[in-house]
Parts: sequence; C-alpha cells; structure tokens
Amino acid sequence: MTTTAAKEIRPVEATTLPGGDQAPAAPCRLCGHVLRHGFVDLGMSPPCESYRTAQQLNQVEAFYPLRVYVCAHCLLVQLEAYVQPDEIFTEYAYFSSYSDSWLKHAAAYVDMIRTRRGLNARSKVVELASNDGYLLQYFLPKGIPVLGIEPAANVAKVAVEKGVPTRVEFFGTECARRLVAEGHAADLIIGNNVLAQVPDLRDFTQGMKILLKPDGIITLEFPHLVQLVEQNQLDTIYHEHFSYFSMLSVRRCFELHGLKIFDVEQLPTHGGSLRVYGAHAEDAAKPVSAAVTELVDQEKQKGLERMEYYARFEVGARRTKQALLDFLIQAKRAGQTIVGYGAPGKGNTLLNYCGIRTDFIDYTVDRNPYKQGRFLPGTHIPILHPDRIRATRPDYVLILPWNLKDEIMNQLAYIREWGGRFVVPIPQPTVYA
Ligand SMILES: [Zn+2]
Repeated sequence: MTTTAAKEIRPVEATTLPGGDQAPAAPCRLCGHVLRHGFVDLGMSPPCESYRTAQQLNQVEAFYPLRVYVCAHCLLVQLEAYVQPDEIFTEYAYFSSYSDSWLKHAAAYVDMIRTRRGLNARSKVVELASNDGYLLQYFLPKGIPVLGIEPAANVAKVAVEKGVPTRVEFFGTECARRLVAEGHAADLIIGNNVLAQVPDLRDFTQGMKILLKPDGIITLEFPHLVQLVEQNQLDTIYHEHFSYFSMLSVRRCFELHGLKIFDVEQLPTHGGSLRVYGAHAEDAAKPVSAAVTELVDQEKQKGLERMEYYARFEVGARRTKQALLDFLIQAKRAGQTIVGYGAPGKGNTLLNYCGIRTDFIDYTVDRNPYKQGRFLPGTHIPILHPDRIRATRPDYVLILPWNLKDEIMNQLAYIREWGGRFVVPIPQPTVYA
C-alpha cells in the first residue's frame, strides 16, 4: 500500500533547547512554527496497537518516545510522528463494533443527522476512517448512499461483508480529487476520532475542503483537550494520536483551509468529546452558532492561550502514576489478586508509563477475538477471554477503558459474588465496591 501521508514524515533531528530539553526539529504540523513548549513526556512506549504473539515475546520490540508539545502560535498540542502511519494502520486491531455503547452512539447520531440535514436517496455520505462499518451500517436501511474510507484492510473487509461500500486507503487531497471525479462529492463528511490520528493534518483538512459539496457539512468528533487536561487523561496519549484539539486549535485548522466551524456539541464519549459541525467558509446559509462563541470564550477564560495552562499537565500525570502504584503495591502486599479488563490503546500507555507488568496484573481480558491469546505491547501481559475472570475470582478488576466503566461494571456485576471490586485508574485511582 502506498500512502501520501507516510511520505511526509521527516526524520527526527533533535535540537537542544535552553534547559537541556530535547525538541524535535520537525515544525508544528498545522502552522509550521518551531515547537518550543513541552506538554508532557511519558517516556518510551511501543506502538500501542502492536499486540504481540507468543512467538514474538522473545524478539526485539520497538519503543518510541511519547513526548508531546504545544505550539505557541496555533495552540495545537501534538506528538511527533515517530511511527510510520502505514506501520500502525494497515492491520488495525481496533474494531469499533465491539463496544455496545459506541454502537448506540452511532445509531443515535445517524437518526439525528438524517433529520438535521434532510438526507435521502440522492445524498452522499462519506465517512473517513469508517472502521468496520459500525456507523455507516445505520444509513443502509434508510436508503442513503454511503462510502467508507478506511486504511486498515482487515477492518475494512468486515465493513464490506456487512454491505458497507468501503475503500482501503488513506484520505487526503489526492484521494479527495479522485472521489470527486468519480461522482462521490459529499453532502455529509463524517470523521469520528480520526482527526487526531492524521499525521499530515493540512493535506487531510484540504482533502475535506475538496470533497465537500458547496452546501455540504462536515461533522468531526474528537476528545476535547480541556477534558484531557482537567481529567488527567494521560493515557489518551499514544503514538497513533498525533494531535490533541481544543476548540481554539480545531477552529484555526479549519480557517487555514477555507472552512469554518458553525456549530459544536459537547459529548460524554471518550472521556469528553467535541462534535464540531463544519462547512465551507463562504457558505452564508450556515451562520456561526452561540455555542461556538461560548466555547471559544470559555477556553480563553480557562487560559488555553497561555503556555502555563499546558505546563501543569505533566505534574498531574506523575501524581496519577504515583497513586496507582501506591494502590497496586498495597494490594499485592495484602496478598490480593488483580486482573485487567480490556486491552485498549489507552491501557498500554498507562501500563508502560507506570511500569506495570505481570508482577501486578495477572492478565487482562478482551471481547475482541483478535486480541485474545496475544500479549499487550511492552508489558507482555496476556490477553484472555472474559470468562477467565469468573474462573479465577480476582480481588480487583482494573478497568483500562475507563470511558466505558459503567458498561463494564454492569457486564461484570457478578464479581461481587466473591467480593471482587473494580478499580478505575483515571483521573485518580478509585475503587468501586
Ligand atoms: Zn502551530
């Protein structure tokens, strides 16, 4: 597979800043300015979706820095693209349809947007990073034409089997021009949790500008940087997430490419997300809503235009690490057993940053059969079938995908039969009886 995105990656040439900090020579991926301000350094970690097989456990494993910067000019919080995108995304282990609550969220979105946009059999809906068709499938019974763009072939194959037309490629200007030439100009472009994962942000955003019909709209969902900072969500930082957006930075990104954000909603998903509504800057029929100006003002009041706001984050990350290790050490000293639930990307950042291996956590479980029988990257904690929990009756279940904690505590309510308890690591380690 060839990718335009992968070609854009520059080698890392570290330059020394005053104070001895290492800064990448690569400029801001949105505005091109030099990055001088650190956000957080989580040390070295393996790419978090590179689950290991038993045969791979004795082989060399690649670790890359998880060092995040904030651009003083455009306020984009960003991680250098240390890992090649085609290394991450061509065989992706994340199947969106394994989460019940995410499926419900997708179905509710489709009902809402069909009404709001008046979509019908003559419309065209294009989803970027459409994964296994978890969302586009809900347009099919309504007779609305859809097209998914998904770079991971193994995930796209599942979508096609569901009847969701899907192309296996990376999205950008080249792909957008081809789609328009083939008659796929979009009334609605959807991008859920993809903007963060785009290494060439400018080419991607320009691609949306090209693909969008003159009166079309874009909806993007992404975790809100303000939640990341305030809820101490350090584990949402991993190599696949190149950018972390506030309203201020996503608005700048749109403006630089002839687009505007005319509405926004705050969602509880993924620990607190924004859903922004975009249109062509020249589309006068879509005035900017009060919700947009209010959120922009809120972010300014919180201090997001000042570098001090970002500098605080690392202190909170270290506190979370210390508190989680305190809890685990006390539990082990008391002779208690701890297992994990879930094998999400975010779990791998947390476990590697904290140095938690099978010395603390016997195993983790996941409903995704792709992950079962494999091992977590870096920490090599085995991933088993969820039934294992009932068989081994652990004292604690550490919930790694904390954004789904209510759903998981319901599914695993039976651990209370033997006095088992849940632990949620973020924002501070908390035990639920
Ligand atoms: Zn910038």
